[in-house]
Amino acid sequence: MNDSEPIVTGPPATSLRRALQVLADPWTMLILKELFNGVRRFSAFQRALNIPRQTLSLRLAHLCREQMMYRRPTSPGHAAMDYAPTAKALDLQDAMYAIWLWHQANPGSADILPFDIVHQGCGQVLSAHWCCTACDTAVTSGAVTIQRTQPEQIESDPRPRLARRNDASVTANSDAAGLVAASLVGDLPCNEILYLLFQEPRHMLAIAQDLALGPGIVRDRLDKLMDLGLIREEALGRRLVYSVLPRAEGFYPLLLAIADWGDRWCNAGNPPPDLRVHDCGSILRARYKCDHCGAWLSRETLRIRPRGG
Ligand SMILES: [Zn+2]
Ligand SMILES: [Zn+2]
Repeated sequence: MNDSEPIVTGPPATSLRRALQVLADPWTMLILKELFNGVRRFSAFQRALNIPRQTLSLRLAHLCREQMMYRRPTSPGHAAMDYAPTAKALDLQDAMYAIWLWHQANPGSADILPFDIVHQGCGQVLSAHWCCTACDTAVTSGAVTIQRTQPEQIESDPRPRLARRNDASVTANSDAAGLVAASLVGDLPCNEILYLLFQEPRHMLAIAQDLALGPGIVRDRLDKLMDLGLIREEALGRRLVYSVLPRAEGFYPLLLAIADWGDRWCNAGNPPPDLRVHDCGSILRARYKCDHCGAWLSRETLRIRPRGG
């Protein structure tokens, strides 16, 4: 043993991170959004997203490999194939609603998702709160504690190569330039940083250390999150401390929905590496509840309706 040898440790494992290893690519989120809207054929994805053919091919292959979708003949006896969602993909529904709700609630970006989600139970356009199923109250970031399961799991696989800067990825497609939520979900470090800051304010080096990220990457993502008005910077003594702004709170259900999905699909049957515990004492299991009629929402009771005229 050589004590001077630097110990290489990865970031602490979290369900959010495991889920984002499947999802954290801006095109992947946009493809999933179209899949949820009923797009099935290669040419239709290409048209809807204005995505280069090769890029689309690679992303669809990735989603098939991750068992998010599968290819099937468009009709019996036909050679033409399309892409169908698996239960694993459909189980991301709450995250998709969270993206839509976030954009509805943030003026100037609602037109980016030009369709309504209608709750068939009451016939109203979706308006919903993310509520704890145990105590029935709306979940806020201040009422959730993250508990690491013991022994603590450290992510051993190397991080995929991270772009030093994260700005061009989704905005390469001008139609998606305003799709803030998908663009954020498409970038792993942005989500990990936000998730961490929801737990408590931190200074830059603490963030870099806690997430095993390079300071350059942390700096770039903090700037991006500040540009989006989600976090703020405050001098505390000699240090700049970062904390979430109220506008970011609408983003919290999205992170939790993705972490929950990671619990269900990304831990290979093992206990999740971290637990979210609600102030009511229960392990948090939250769902959306309709603001109009109070019913819990499910995919079967929601319909997507194009926004006409
Ligand atoms: Zn509760
Ligand atoms: Zn309703």
